[in-house]
Amino acid sequence: MQTVNKNFINEKKIEEDLAVNKNPESRRVKDILTKALSIETLEPDETAALLNVEDKNLWEEIFEVAGKIKKKVYDNRIVTFAPLYCSNLCVNSCLYCAFRKENTEGIRRRLSLEEVEKETEVLISFGHKRLIVVYGEHPLTNIDYISDTIKTIYKTKVGANKIRRVNVNAAPMSVEELKLLKQVGIGTYQVFQETYHRETYRKVHPKGLKSDYKRRLYALHKAMDAGIDDVGIGALFGLYDWRFEVMGLLEHSRELERSFGIGPHTISFPRLEPAMNTPFVQQAEHKVSDEDFKKLIAVLRLSVPYTGMILTAREPAHIRRKVLPLGCTQTDASSRIGIGAYSRKYNKQEAEKQQFLLGDTRTLDEVIREFASDGYITSFCTAGYRCGRTGKCIMQLLKTGEEGKFCKLNAVLTFREWLDDFASEQTKEAGEKVIKKEIEELKEQLPDTYPQFEKFYQRIKNGERDFYF
Ligand code: SF4
Repeated sequence: MQTVNKNFINEKKIEEDLAVNKNPESRRVKDILTKALSIETLEPDETAALLNVEDKNLWEEIFEVAGKIKKKVYDNRIVTFAPLYCSNLCVNSCLYCAFRKENTEGIRRRLSLEEVEKETEVLISFGHKRLIVVYGEHPLTNIDYISDTIKTIYKTKVGANKIRRVNVNAAPMSVEELKLLKQVGIGTYQVFQETYHRETYRKVHPKGLKSDYKRRLYALHKAMDAGIDDVGIGALFGLYDWRFEVMGLLEHSRELERSFGIGPHTISFPRLEPAMNTPFVQQAEHKVSDEDFKKLIAVLRLSVPYTGMILTAREPAHIRRKVLPLGCTQTDASSRIGIGAYSRKYNKQEAEKQQFLLGDTRTLDEVIREFASDGYITSFCTAGYRCGRTGKCIMQLLKTGEEGKFCKLNAVLTFREWLDDFASEQTKEAGEKVIKKEIEELKEQLPDTYPQFEKFYQRIKNGERDFYF
């Protein structure tokens, strides 16, 4: 499909929806919750009504339903990944980012391919199977560099272990460049709009390529045109009113579905965090409180039940634990966002020179132990895209509940691998309890597939790797 360069974010309509749905009646909110529980996508006025709820008890009901939807569609699985920052060179001037061109503090560079390999080795040795590679926007990190770094990551091995899926967070590209990106075998391609509010967008992106709102807004249309049907959207919460941004994200999602028959695979909702020599953040007027953060996550979960939701390590551990049950499906762990930071000794001074400050710097082992103690299974599954279950296909499988079956089987197989290869004794103990319960459920829920699963499981226990459905 050829991209039409209109602006599908109708600010007036969003503002009207938010204004006319103020103080929704309790009966109406309950009806919307019933609809959401039947795993139906909400209409903009319904989302606007939820965003406008003021009654504390109703919010508690919303949180509860969000948790139920998460359980229904994704069960107790959490997918983990790690970011790999390949470069902090950038031609843009985003006021909230320490990598902006004007910031002269800190060393600016890109990783060599040897360094990419070293960083990847460290991440593999933690047990990661899935990365998101991150690049600023700069001629030195063009499509050739991006492709070379991704190829290097896929080639890197530590014993029998390797990275099985590389997702990409990079600047908008041309369709020709995106076709090259598809060829190297990426998972999800993410471009975050940061803010959907045009006036705010103009203020916080005063110069550089990123100052073009529409170029960014249509970046994922171009990806779809190039055949990349697995894309991720996101907003940086704190730049403008959080309710408006939720509506913007949903409009973006609806537009992709309208134009291509596929919504985004994931939604990210990072909050603005302090960054080195970046005074804008201290003065930001729209910072999102912890309570509002919970609300926005729950409303997103209710509005688009089939979309993966990514909670990042920007958030401190106690917040992550609180909001995870509201519908998050993926999170990063053991993250370092300095350039070359995995293969160097981590120190606080260096951490302050990163793009922003991380709230949760626990190891993958510690994070997984907490998940397991809370009853979650960590999934390292990367089967979906390797079996061609992406785009329309995955949406259909999610809607019919089929994908959930694959996911449950693959979660157990990959968690078994991770426990045997990487877990500390303490984590293993917590993980075994989760696995035991999952296997009981598999026996009961999938009697036909169970025998094949059992064969794969035993072979993994005997040291073989990488079986999946
Ligand atoms: S947010 Fe991205 S585009 Fe903007 S300055 Fe930072 S690295 Fe560059």
